[in-house]
Amino acid sequence: MPLLEIRNLCFQIDQKKILDELSLAVKENEIHVLLGTNGSGKSTLAYLVLGCEGYFPSSGEILFAGREIKALKIHERAQQGITLAWQEPAKFEGISVADYLSLGARSGEPSDYLRRVGLRPEEYLNRVLDKTLSEGQRKRIELASVLAMKPRLAILDEPDSGIDLLSVQEIVDVIHGFKDFQASVLLITHREEIAHMANRASQLCGGKIVFTGSPSAVAQHFKTRRCIVCDGKPC
Ligand code: ADP
Ligand code: MG
Repeated sequence: MPLLEIRNLCFQIDQKKILDELSLAVKENEIHVLLGTNGSGKSTLAYLVLGCEGYFPSSGEILFAGREIKALKIHERAQQGITLAWQEPAKFEGISVADYLSLGARSGEPSDYLRRVGLRPEEYLNRVLDKTLSEGQRKRIELASVLAMKPRLAILDEPDSGIDLLSVQEIVDVIHGFKDFQASVLLITHREEIAHMANRASQLCGGKIVFTGSPSAVAQHFKTRRCIVCDGKPC
């Protein structure tokens, strides 16, 4: 049984179809990359799985560990081990990194989580979350906090535009940290080079999964048949 199984999911805003019969499965202990260009529906999918306010599917199923979770509130889904990181900037300005990492932590030492994301605890534990930290450092700290929650499924939604905050190699290193904690990861990105670190990948276009397979096959498909070319219609 997959850890996350999405079947024929539809979602619309003001009559506009955003997700259209989308089906996707993420297996236990799998790193699954979801590739799609801007506006293809990646973040919408993440919000539907998390159960964010205003995001309820018009039809379809969202099964987590075999159980339908559509009716569960965001905190109930979090209790089951579903977490999100990355798209939103950290909202905990002014507290220390050590306190921030203890907030949602199930167990373990903040230092361990910092090391996992490539930050030296002796340098960062007593720093304050403020503008003196670079965007990349803040992203790593946020990812350390997701690790501390010991999620069963971490959904990492990389921002679509602007600077890519972490290099591909940095992302690979951090994701290995998640793997070590037996978390499954749905890594959402627009960079096909990131797909190569996954166990499997899927391409999203026009609100549908148009291709699932090995990372190299999906990256190739994405590169040659980008949604820009097909003008947003599923390719
Ligand atoms: P991605 O994360 O792949 O860039 P999104 O999920 O953010 O894509 O958006 C998918 C589509 O849904 C886009 O066409 C976007 O304009 C539209 N969309 C997203 N949120 C809203 C909203 N709140 N109101 C209207 N349209 C929206
Ligand atoms: Mg997005």
